[in-house]
Amino acid sequence: MTSALLIVFAFVLGAVIGSFLNVVIYRVPARKSVVYPPSSCPSCGHRLGPAELVPIVSWALQRGRCKHCGASVSARYPAVEALTGLLFALAAWLRPEFPELLLIWAFIAILVALSFIDIDTYTVPDGINFGGLFLGLGAAALLAFPQPFGQALDAALICAGVIALIGSYGSLVVRRFRDGKREYPVGLHTLHLAAMVGAWFGPAAGLVAGFLNWALNARTKRVWALPDGLTLGLAALGPVVAYLVPAWPFDGLHGLFIAAGGLALTGGLYWAFQPEPEDDPDEVVVMGFGDVKLAGLLGAWLGVGPFLVGLMVAVVAGAVIGLALRERKVPFVPYLALGGLVAFFFGQDLIGWYLGYLGVGP
Ligand SMILES: [Zn+2]
Repeated sequence: MTSALLIVFAFVLGAVIGSFLNVVIYRVPARKSVVYPPSSCPSCGHRLGPAELVPIVSWALQRGRCKHCGASVSARYPAVEALTGLLFALAAWLRPEFPELLLIWAFIAILVALSFIDIDTYTVPDGINFGGLFLGLGAAALLAFPQPFGQALDAALICAGVIALIGSYGSLVVRRFRDGKREYPVGLHTLHLAAMVGAWFGPAAGLVAGFLNWALNARTKRVWALPDGLTLGLAALGPVVAYLVPAWPFDGLHGLFIAAGGLALTGGLYWAFQPEPEDDPDEVVVMGFGDVKLAGLLGAWLGVGPFLVGLMVAVVAGAVIGLALRERKVPFVPYLALGGLVAFFFGQDLIGWYLGYLGVGP
């Protein structure tokens, strides 16, 4: 296939996938099947025929209205189809190799679905999020793409750990050092303990401490926890000591982030399989953190350096666009997804350009 033909094909395929993503975005948060029943008009229930299901084109020909009842159809449907088509075409233009391109298309589809679900519901569905994480790790194991497996796993844990700890230190300051809610059998206290031990004695020790604490809680049916101020304070001190004492045998920052990320992702996976709390608002699980799990997904696909570039893009874009829209509650996933895609395609170039700008690059 010539590259021009491939790009056109990618756009059409992306638009068709985008049409399916519209169904996913609407039905997954509502816990409905994405394959049955077939699409129908939400106003009159009229089942859509093949002529009404052509991505972008049907909406344009029907001037954004249902053919049956005339109810207006949101412009977001063709917009999601066009966006997915353009991103698929961009990927085909920049990275035309197979089977890598198929994986990149899957990565794009996952990010588009997660972004619009977050815009609609301020939630990040675990099925899609962990699906993307395990797809990235699986591809790394089989194809050494997007990166070798060891690197992908390391980066997934570190990136999840970075975002989890930004949240923890942030809420510690906001709550003025008051202790957080104790979650059984695994929650932020366990994560902070793992981070503290990891920061002093390396990632393996941190992970073991976290899982032992989790097991102890489950075994004794109560939460054994140190105050957040103590664990997070000592966790911050570990890397400083490791830096100041040259003979110190552990890399403090590596241990801190790996242990925190390991507990964040395994704890998140545990909570993903728990039934949702019915009516008691106090039962709502704090450890739902969608941003942290998305950071794990992005880490597996991008690596640590490009992830940090993407995070910077996300923070800047979120601040600028959030201010422009004057929104109070800003969904962060779309910005993280945008930053992630920019970093996936251009991260290494941006890092090289920035290091060159600082005068320290190659
Ligand atoms: Zn209708």
